[in-house]
Amino acid sequence: MKIKKYPLGFLPTPLHELRHFSRKYTSGYRVFIKRDDHTGLASGGNKTRKLEYLVGEAFQQGADTVVASGAQQSNHCRQTAAACAMAGLECHLMLGGTEPKVKSGNLLLSSLFGAHIHYTGEKRKGEDAELLVEKLRSTGKRPYLIPYGGSNATGALGYVEATQELQQQLKTLNLKIDYIFFASSSGGMQAGIAMGKAMYGLPSGLMPVRIDKEPTGGKSPGEMVSSIIYEARERFGLHTEVDENDLKLLEGYEKPGYGVLTDHEKKAILALAGSEGILLDPVYTGRAFYALMHQTQNQLIHPDTNILFWHTGGLPATFQYAAALI
Ligand SMILES: *Cc1c(COP(=O)(O)O)cnc(C)c1O
Repeated sequence: MKIKKYPLGFLPTPLHELRHFSRKYTSGYRVFIKRDDHTGLASGGNKTRKLEYLVGEAFQQGADTVVASGAQQSNHCRQTAAACAMAGLECHLMLGGTEPKVKSGNLLLSSLFGAHIHYTGEKRKGEDAELLVEKLRSTGKRPYLIPYGGSNATGALGYVEATQELQQQLKTLNLKIDYIFFASSSGGMQAGIAMGKAMYGLPSGLMPVRIDKEPTGGKSPGEMVSSIIYEARERFGLHTEVDENDLKLLEGYEKPGYGVLTDHEKKAILALAGSEGILLDPVYTGRAFYALMHQTQNQLIHPDTNILFWHTGGLPATFQYAAALI
């Protein structure tokens, strides 16, 4: 079945060089950035591209309501709430923890977009989502369930397409990228890029930085990525010979745990903000960009190469971390 996407973003996103940053921090490497923090939907981020296909599929299935889940500072849930507002769908979010006295960051924004919020305690990955779906159905709604992080074959289509977009930009700039760094968590973006890379012949090595220490639904991040690719083959007939290496993640940086801000993320945030005026978030991009700095400064990847950092957004969470950041 073919999915007709529902346009939500301002695409293509810009791609440019980080000249000042490279000169100051990564001598011997040229660093470029792809600005998916500027996809345009409710302050941007990588969920916009996934949601174009997920919302498209929701409409194709005749849904009038959407259910999504995540942490209170979930960028995915904030972007889902905004997408639903744009598309005229009712939005239900299942968020971990209990209701805080003051809502800030992504939680504040999700509320402003009119989402119905259900607090789910320890469970921040939609463990009980089916129950809510059933309940909504019994009241006459037609719910569409978005998986954790928007990561399934449908969501990944957004990054298959994004990889084609990147490939076209690189052709226009006559630029070869050797390594692509990005934050990888629920695996949808990585699966999409790995498939897109095989389909469009992108010659870059993928450096997906592991963010979350815990498994999701009992699966390691690598298993998540492979199962999304398998699903894309079954459902959409995407017969791509994905490079085994692209299923792996760059590990070690996730050790402090999900959402824990350490000196590493802080160092990356201050370096990019101070040298380029670009903001990274404390949970995902701060961690992934630290990995880029660490790998280049210690020459763990080949010197004299071109690197792309694929910025995935996350800005609103910054405000929730104000006390720890300065
Ligand atoms: C969700 C998210 C990611 C990770 O993308 P996945 O497809 O879940 O692996 C990276 N960065 C930000 C800012 C995100 O919100």
